[in-house]
Amino acid sequence: MEMHSARQLQQLPFYAPQGEECRLFEQAHASRLPLLIKGPTGCGKTRLVEHMAARLGRPLITVSCHDDLSAADLVGRHLIQGGDTRWCDGPLTRAVREGAICYLDEVVEARKDTTVVLHPLADDRRQLAIERTGELLQAAPGFMLVISYNPGYQNLLKGLKPSTRQRFVALGLDYPAPDIERAIVASESGCTDEVAAQLVRLAQALRRLTEQDLEETASTRLLVMAARLHVAGLALLPACRAAIVDALTDEADTGAALHEVLRAVI
Ligand code: ADP
Repeated sequence: MEMHSARQLQQLPFYAPQGEECRLFEQAHASRLPLLIKGPTGCGKTRLVEHMAARLGRPLITVSCHDDLSAADLVGRHLIQGGDTRWCDGPLTRAVREGAICYLDEVVEARKDTTVVLHPLADDRRQLAIERTGELLQAAPGFMLVISYNPGYQNLLKGLKPSTRQRFVALGLDYPAPDIERAIVASESGCTDEVAAQLVRLAQALRRLTEQDLEETASTRLLVMAARLHVAGLALLPACRAAIVDALTDEADTGAALHEVLRAVI
């Protein structure tokens, strides 16, 4: 049932759906299934999770994964305080105890030892073993594990192990359709509909050009940033140059090609 009070709706982080992803998220949560969200950087993965956590009334604990992130960073560690050692829960352990939604952003970046703790949490057991303290935690009812990854070419090698992927319900997101993306850019920046339309046209031209050459392309996030600079008083062309084109590449030839597209569209 999608019923929310006016007050609740006001407090929800704004999310414009691309399709049925909110329903899928809700059903995965109700079925106690973990979720894998795939999609390029800046396409709305984090915002979807923030929106759904608020809608489901669950606390959200987000971890941005990096190549040094270990299982201990997620689970916790003993800290020495004034001569005493004290156990300190990591973010994953807190989420398991509190029944929160735990969102591991860019999970393929994390060290391989993290899979050992994620697997028993992601299947029917919903358990977290804290080796250091000997505790075996059963996840509280509202707990949900959500991971995201960007299947860009750099990640093809790293990938997610099949044994990990198969534990998750998968949801693929892409950049939103033009009419939805226009509404997002306008609503997130306060720019006019015309400016939003221009920015989305620019993004489409840049995406056609950059999809093969660049790992990252003009994302919804970058459009929102350009629109905000413009709303703050910068002309649209320099705003797009700073927030989109120069943000995407350091390479002179590619930069020149992107600038050309920029001048043709804006
Ligand atoms: P990702 O996690 O995929 O890298 P984010 O969720 O952080 O991307 O999205 C980047 C920004 O783009 C958000 O802060 C928001 O301003 C905007 N955005 C993207 N998609 C949406 C959407 N569907 N609804 C509302 N805002 C969105």
